[in-house]
Parts: sequence; structure tokens; C-alpha cells
Amino acid sequence: MSFLDRGIEIKSPEQIATMRRAGLVVGETLELLRSSVRPGITTGELDAIAEDNIRSSGATPSFKGYHGFPGSICASVNDEVVHGIPGSRVLNEGDVISIDCGAIVDGWHGDAATTVAIGEVPAEVAELMRVTEEAMWRGIAAARLGGRVTDISHAVESHVRSQGRFGILEDYVGHGIGSQMHQPPNVPNFGRAGKGPKLVEGLALAVEPMITLGGKETVVLEDDWTVITADGSWAAHYENTFTLTPRGAWVLTALDGGEAALTALGVPFGGR
Ligand code: MG
Ligand code: MG
Repeated sequence: MSFLDRGIEIKSPEQIATMRRAGLVVGETLELLRSSVRPGITTGELDAIAEDNIRSSGATPSFKGYHGFPGSICASVNDEVVHGIPGSRVLNEGDVISIDCGAIVDGWHGDAATTVAIGEVPAEVAELMRVTEEAMWRGIAAARLGGRVTDISHAVESHVRSQGRFGILEDYVGHGIGSQMHQPPNVPNFGRAGKGPKLVEGLALAVEPMITLGGKETVVLEDDWTVITADGSWAAHYENTFTLTPRGAWVLTALDGGEAALTALGVPFGGR
């Protein structure tokens, strides 16, 4: 262990198995929300659907009450990037919503996010969503046992930069996860490869690029939660929680464990 590894929680295979159960609740909840999003629905209604599903699955919402956060999801619309509070806002055709969700099973967390278009969105917004989701998968696919945390960061940034002019948030980053939702280490979405803590078995990380059609600067609204882009550009946010096994990456919040996306990128699937 080096000083870089301070505070990093190494999970046993049994603890990872429990995180998989939490991850599946999150993945299933996000699928349910994807199919529930439609013009006219409010973000508060989506939050209620999420909380019902999480609790009826025997899990607890990670977000509800987290530093006082009132919802079970974060619902961030258009120029809102992350941490939007669900409520009376009505979704309209042409909007885009980023939904972030976390669940706890027997004390272990899963954390994931997805961005959903409401009906037809401008081509550049669809492109933003594609690039952001791909960057998340490229980041996970870059992780290897014995590698370093910023191998992920570099893969995320490289993919985004290769796809056009986008803003990559720097003030908000991915993170370690386990018996707490947010743990060391930070997982930035930018930077050089080969830095930071070593990637070892039993580590679990949430990889979550937050990408904009404009700049990287953000502002927090007066509700003390909602993070919007400073320039008003629209944003996308995708996130998954994953771990590394001797066989490869296992995406704990993906329903298929990430097998399809990882295989498409030519990397071994480490799940079961
Ligand atoms: Mg999240
Ligand atoms: Mg997260």
C-alpha cells in the first residue's frame, strides 16, 4: 500500500456479491425509469417510481437523506448536469434528462446514471449522449488489474476529445464505492494515464463522465444542489459501478454485467 491508497476499501468476494445485488436494483430501477419517461411526466413522479422500485426490491435509496438530499434520484434536465432535485418540473418533448440513482443492500452501495431523451432531440444532443455513454464504457474498458486509476480518466477524456468539441466537467468526478456511496479514490474524467492508486481486486469504482455541448464551468443553483452549466449548454451524464476480477471487468450496475459493451470493445468480461 502506498500513500495513494489511503482510505481505499478493498471488498471481499462476498461483499462484491452484495454490491452486485445493490447494482442490479439500481440497473433495474434505471430501466424502469427509462421506460417511464414521457412528455408530461414530472421529475417527482419519476422519483416516486424509483423509490417504490428500490424499496420493493428490499433495498434502500442511497440518495434519500444523503446530506439532506430529498429525493431517491437526481433528475437533471437540459442545462442541469447533476444533482437536480426531483419535483414539479414537467418533462417536455425535446428535453433531455439525466437520472442518477443509488441503492443500498445490506449496507453495500450501487450507483449509476443514464441520460434519456424525451422524444426527438436535436442531433447535437443525441451526439452528446452517444459520446458520453461511449466514454463511460471506454473508461471502464481501460481498467486492468495492476493498472492505475487515471488509465480510466485518460480513456474517458481521449474518447470525448476524439469525437468533437465538448466540455468535460473537472469539478465533479467519479469515485470509489462500497460501504459508503462516495469513497476514495477520485476518478477524474480527464488527465494522463498511469497515475493514482493501483487497480486491484476488491476495488469498486463509479465511472461517471459529465459532458457538455459547451464549456466545463458550472454553477450551483440556490437550492444548494442543482449543478447547471455556466454557459447554458446542455449536458449528459452516464455512470456505472464496476469492479475487476482476475478475468476482467464486471459492471455491477449493468443488467448483463457489462458483458455486451465490454465484448464489443474487445475486453474480457470478468463477471458471472
Ligand atoms: Mg451517481
Ligand atoms: Mg457517483
